[in-house]
Amino acid sequence: MRKKLIAANWKMYKTPDQTSAFFREFLPMVAGHDRDEIAVFPPFIDLPVAAEAVKGSNIAIGGQDLYWEKEGAFTGEISPAMLLALGCTHVIIGHSERRQYFGETDDTVNLKLKAALEAGLTPIVCVGEVLEEREAGLTDDVLRRQCVRAFHKLSGKKAAKLVIAYEPVWAIGTGRTATPQLASEAHGLIRSEVGKGLGEELARKIRLLYGGSVKPENAKALMTEEEIDGALVGGASLDPKSFTEIVKY
Ligand code: PEP
Repeated sequence: MRKKLIAANWKMYKTPDQTSAFFREFLPMVAGHDRDEIAVFPPFIDLPVAAEAVKGSNIAIGGQDLYWEKEGAFTGEISPAMLLALGCTHVIIGHSERRQYFGETDDTVNLKLKAALEAGLTPIVCVGEVLEEREAGLTDDVLRRQCVRAFHKLSGKKAAKLVIAYEPVWAIGTGRTATPQLASEAHGLIRSEVGKGLGEELARKIRLLYGGSVKPENAKALMTEEEIDGALVGGASLDPKSFTEIVKY
């Protein structure tokens, strides 16, 4: 059985003080919850406060991005070792907002994925189609391309920690959610691409998360689908109560 991972992507929200306040309320509500893994991805500046807050708890902390080089003249970037030094165990790679607004490509996703795995981080690689691609019947092609390029020159053995989030871009922050069936179909396709690129053993084990307007009201229907192994939650993860309701769907 694949243990589900419920992940909170805070995007560019919350200061360190607001991060402390979140965990003061959130930690007691999920204490002892071990059915699922929980991971929170705050902005970089909040990581020290977050890591301190979750010490000794069942919650993991991760970065929302990283750069693939170890160090150097790369103004504004964060290396895998820097994330580890702050107590991160996870990292999000290739979020659609990074692809849309910051020039992230399938090739940079591949470089970041390899660097994250090399450092021992658990990467959550985001894939998903935009509305025009879905309407043009191109969803399968887009997901296949994103997977093939992300897995370039990677072996199943090295990718053991890999997690993939299927996030249809038209569902992110819009209140529109993919139906559980539609998400399941996409997950089936991604799982078969993992099988082709990284081997059948990993394809059976890998966790495929769904992301796109997951809310307390729709979490159960999505999370109880056989093919859905957790959620990447944006907006609804900012409030400790609503994120708790999702974690405990
Ligand atoms: C996300 O940030 O990955 C996301 C899915 O956002 P939201 O839940 O707000 O749609």
